[in-house]
Amino acid sequence: MHANSLYQEVILDHNRKPRNYGKLDHASHQAVGHNPLCGDRLDITLQLENEQINNIAFQGESCAICKASASMMTAAVKGKSRLDAETLIHEFRDLATGKLDINLPHHLGRLTVFSGIRDLPTRVKCAILPWHTLHAALNSISSASTEADNDPAQAVSSK
Ligand code: ZN
Repeated sequence: MHANSLYQEVILDHNRKPRNYGKLDHASHQAVGHNPLCGDRLDITLQLENEQINNIAFQGESCAICKASASMMTAAVKGKSRLDAETLIHEFRDLATGKLDINLPHHLGRLTVFSGIRDLPTRVKCAILPWHTLHAALNSISSASTEADNDPAQAVSSK
């Protein structure tokens, strides 16, 4: 399948049937993410036990790209260790901003459908917001904004 039609197929699928949509009642970590550029708002709750993400959910009002990215993010990090999740956060950010060499080993799997997003500068933040918000939640920072800095992960960790 052509890369672009696969991308559209994945975005549509995750918007029709978002994975892990909702809010956990007994979350150990949570954060709210905001992308003022597009108006995306996300609420991420997760259950971290022994440094492992046992459960994760997201909800919010966002565009299709942000929603699909959030849905795929929750599916990708559920059951993973905090460290593996942080690796994915960095790899996805590098992918979306065009810094990742997709031919080198990485852990993104199907998330590489977002590789074309680097050519759409206004949508890069939509795709990154869920990952940015996950990073904030894992580091017990209650809110994250894509407008904080050019480098979302650095922006939240430097606060
Ligand atoms: Zn958006």
